[in-house]
Amino acid sequence: MDTTLSPEEKAISERIVELKAKLGDELLILGHHYQRDSIVMHADFLGDSFMLSQKAAQSSAKYIVFCGVHFMAESADILTADTQSVVLPNLRAGCSMADMATLEEVEEAWVDILHQTGLNDPILRTSPDEPCSESEAYLVPVTYMNSSAALKDFVGRHGGIVCTSSNAEGVLQWAFERAGQNGAVLFFPDQHLGRNTGANMGISTDLMPTWTPKIGPSSSLQGARIILWHGFCSVHKRFTVSQIEQFRVRYPDGVVVVHPECPIETVHAADAYGSTNFIRDYVNSMPSGSQIGVGTEINMVARLAAEHPDKHIECLDAEICPCSTMYMIHPAYLMDVLERLCEGEVPNQITVPPSIQQGALLALQRMLSIPK
Ligand code: SF4
Repeated sequence: MDTTLSPEEKAISERIVELKAKLGDELLILGHHYQRDSIVMHADFLGDSFMLSQKAAQSSAKYIVFCGVHFMAESADILTADTQSVVLPNLRAGCSMADMATLEEVEEAWVDILHQTGLNDPILRTSPDEPCSESEAYLVPVTYMNSSAALKDFVGRHGGIVCTSSNAEGVLQWAFERAGQNGAVLFFPDQHLGRNTGANMGISTDLMPTWTPKIGPSSSLQGARIILWHGFCSVHKRFTVSQIEQFRVRYPDGVVVVHPECPIETVHAADAYGSTNFIRDYVNSMPSGSQIGVGTEINMVARLAAEHPDKHIECLDAEICPCSTMYMIHPAYLMDVLERLCEGEVPNQITVPPSIQQGALLALQRMLSIPK
């Protein structure tokens, strides 16, 4: 047990261990990399949203307690059986990026974009899972995992797919094969992940206009390959080229790795970029004595630094910034939901309405079938 815990935190932690033991195989605790250490120490699996969604799909536990944010728990509910319950320890733990694209806004944009581009809606296809012919041109929706279940359902019904930061390139390739050579992808809600992935696939940023609700596109949609929703992550957009330059002045032999939710200039100035799991593997692969600047959420960076005392690991942002909603999962909330599960209650259950389960499941299953 972590000796740095206060007496109160230690008592909570010990109680969580007891409750976990009581619930035994009925319980699975999933923890995202951005959770604090006093939560992570109780997780059966620690991972990014892709890995955790796979763990949820493979689990037969009766109760899945998701220490992450709301959209992750929704995806877990969609991927698990009706006999399983997904619990979010604090119902206020949402994601500001996911909130930047509502179903109403996307539906309105969808109609406008189809009208402006003359592209077809894949909902008209009899086999939307198959690649289309060269003469066809569709608008294929792709949503980042960080979105509501209602949007995943929209995407599933319109022949689209979900992606995570681990598999975005494979997912975009899938989508282009179904959009056709003259078709396009509507990517939401994170403009930066879409732009960074498209650029890495050789697509000019001129062919990736941004779409802002009530305003429209940043430039002509004619010939566009990826239309990027205007959303962003308030944590990752803080990482800048200037921070990387300052790090390189202090550590001329150092290396920099950032997350693809960072702006494209930041990604280009870094030595490497990738998902949270990629960043972990990158740091692991560096030799002892390395100096590594990391552009992602501080809880994860601090954990990496503790795990690698032989390397200098620091967050690029001196104004240390945790994800405020991930931080809402306090151990006291975890203890509380476990107490109530032991008493036979199912608190804070996340249930996706049956009316949107089918489309969302389809979009998620398409994603899970694609290799990273
Ligand atoms: S780090 Fe950004 S994208 Fe991830 S949950 Fe927090 S606000 Fe959302």
